[in-house]
Amino acid sequence: MIAETIKNSARILSGAAIAEEIKTEVFGEVKKLEEEYGFRPYLVVVRVGEDKASAVYVGSKVKTSEELGIISEHRHLPAETLQEELLQIVDDLNCREDVDGILIQFPLPKQIDESAILEKINPEKDVDGFHPVNVGKLSQGQKTLAPCTPAGVIEILKRSEIEIAGKHAVIVGRSNIVGKPMAMLLLQENATVTICHSRTKNLAEITNQADILVAAIGRAGFIRGEHIKEGATVIDVGINNVSDADFARELFDDAEIEKRLNTIEKRGFTLVGDVNPKEAKAKAANFTPVPGGVGLLTVAMLMKNTVDAAKMRRKMWKSEKVKK
Ligand code: NDP
Repeated sequence: MIAETIKNSARILSGAAIAEEIKTEVFGEVKKLEEEYGFRPYLVVVRVGEDKASAVYVGSKVKTSEELGIISEHRHLPAETLQEELLQIVDDLNCREDVDGILIQFPLPKQIDESAILEKINPEKDVDGFHPVNVGKLSQGQKTLAPCTPAGVIEILKRSEIEIAGKHAVIVGRSNIVGKPMAMLLLQENATVTICHSRTKNLAEITNQADILVAAIGRAGFIRGEHIKEGATVIDVGINNVSDADFARELFDDAEIEKRLNTIEKRGFTLVGDVNPKEAKAKAANFTPVPGGVGLLTVAMLMKNTVDAAKMRRKMWKSEKVKK
């Protein structure tokens, strides 16, 4: 069990330790594939334009690939790249025998239709798990390449020995990249699943029924103590920048506030999830921190998907129905 206990009662689920564990497993698998089958998985990451956050994410994906022995290729295209040009690049990557995984970093410049690009990727090389074929397989309960962030949440729950089957899981957020695939994955694990969104009435009444509450909203500290059932597991997917010191004081307890205020002073902001951590720690039994929680799993799961894609293309990965 990977966790540390803190004084306010909630067990803090460390994303760092779990991400390391997964990366170690991936490293072992890559080594085995090379030694026994003579190949290493190959990932191509394509970035278009100069979005700063994308540059950081891509940098971290390429660096982690290299650390784990996965071959990675980074294509950086100019911001004025046309949709037809990007479609052609994807087509070429689809045809390349050596390429196992293709990741097109979003957001794309506005002249490019993101869904047209997603649909062009060969589903077998779709390591982000966003292609409609993979989304369909996921909803049919078939083993497939699942979106990395929600797949990472499942790893946190399982590796922290938190029971999912039969539990009521409530997800706040219904995006295609987090909320909806999260619901499908929890359903596969036999949870009873409720999805909430901006039009949900009486949100707190519903979230208060959650044994497992997943927040994927995009609003700093939105989930408060009143939303959380005593003893629940609270998974905070959100990543938001908070630069207001007074707001930070509402979010963090004495043990953490000084560090956060220093970060705001130095960097201009501190990273905060969609849950108020001070209130969550007082009511929840288990809680994922931000930073240091779900966010760290996303890259680790991308590496795992790349290895799975490599094995799947070589028929080394049996498709199977999820057990009930
Ligand atoms: P989106 O903006 O795509 O979706 C947000 C969801 O929250 C929507 O479904 C929206 O409802 C819902 N929502 C908004 N306001 C409310 C409200 N007042 N009450 C209830 N529901 C509400 O965000 P994403 O899913 O892309 O991301 C969610 C968060 O997760 C963000 O903070 C993002 O930064 C973070 N994230 C973290 C990742 C990681 O690696 N840890 C990866 C991806 C995202 P509606 O559909 O009705 O508009």
